[in-house]
Amino acid sequence: MIMKETKLLSVRDAEQDKKNIETAANLLRQGGLVAIPTETVYGLGANALNPQAVEAIFTAKGRPQDNPLIIHICQPEQAEQYAREIPSAYYALCRRFSPGPLTVILKKKDIIPPETSGGLDTVAIRIPSHPVARAIIQAAGVPVAAPSANLSGSPSPTTAQHCIHDLWGRVDAIVDAGECSVGLESTVISLAGERPILLRPGAVTPEQLEEVLGPVEIHQAVTGQLEGDGKAASPGMKYKHYSPKAKITILRGSSAQYTAYVNSRKGPGVYALCFEEDIPNLLVPYVSWGSSGSESSQAHRLFAALRELDQQGAQRVYARCPEKSGIGLAVYNRLIRAAAFDEQEAKETF
Ligand code: AMP
Ligand code: MG
Repeated sequence: MIMKETKLLSVRDAEQDKKNIETAANLLRQGGLVAIPTETVYGLGANALNPQAVEAIFTAKGRPQDNPLIIHICQPEQAEQYAREIPSAYYALCRRFSPGPLTVILKKKDIIPPETSGGLDTVAIRIPSHPVARAIIQAAGVPVAAPSANLSGSPSPTTAQHCIHDLWGRVDAIVDAGECSVGLESTVISLAGERPILLRPGAVTPEQLEEVLGPVEIHQAVTGQLEGDGKAASPGMKYKHYSPKAKITILRGSSAQYTAYVNSRKGPGVYALCFEEDIPNLLVPYVSWGSSGSESSQAHRLFAALRELDQQGAQRVYARCPEKSGIGLAVYNRLIRAAAFDEQEAKETF
């Protein structure tokens, strides 16, 4: 792969740092690759209508070609340029959740190249709320296809440093606007079929979606391993994800059960991926990722914590299990993939 000269563009304020916004927007218009901050995670953006630019995303990330990209726009009505047969439910969702961390799958128009849709007949649309993302998309004047700005398989980036670590020399620019507020990728819901179906949980919860749509089916792969052919639903769910170098096991149980179990495993390379309340009772090194009562703090910290474990050289990691409801469902969905679906009770025969 040819190494590129990567620009680092700091944008602390979308108004004051207009020059850097313009530079990022120009690069996108010219077919370049730019990592941009959003409220979910950093995205690796390219012009969604330019097949070569989109192909370059896959090369830079090492992403499988059949894994489609989400396109980012500024206003709900702009979806009409890219999608057909848009149901009224799309606008109902937009009224409640846009702009924000929700992606809606719709039937696509021909203007969306197969490179962007992974060869599917549908397109994924999101309207981000991050002021820097919005300013860049607006200034670029094109829909921006953007998967997470990490190397495929590694934890998604929630800071510009994470993007620099994975993509320096592979992309044209990285825009630094600090930490992402949510910290997990968007909720993905499909409105392209007969009934709404949740394909990926995120900060917009199933309960919130049901308040707008009525009953929402939750795809089996949200809490388990994808069964059968993943192609029809959401191709992204079948790939290895978020994996640090260490082997992770998720432990169910109270703080006392968890710390007792982990302490009994003490040894070289053994780490706890724990909540703050566990710290006083741990006898092994740890990385903490939020507090047990706050799923949004766990969402915010999870990906950075997975990267810290790698940096510290963790080999064997025991993670405290999050609640599986509300935004906790999204946290669990990412953690169970990082753990390659290894989850156990923290009860031990000592
Ligand atoms: P990423 O942006 O890397 O977090 O990945 C985007 C996610 O959205 C992946 O899980 C994709 O499989 C999913 N996705 C994107 N477009 C579609 C689509 N047209 N149909 C179903 N899932 C999609
Ligand atoms: Mg991703």
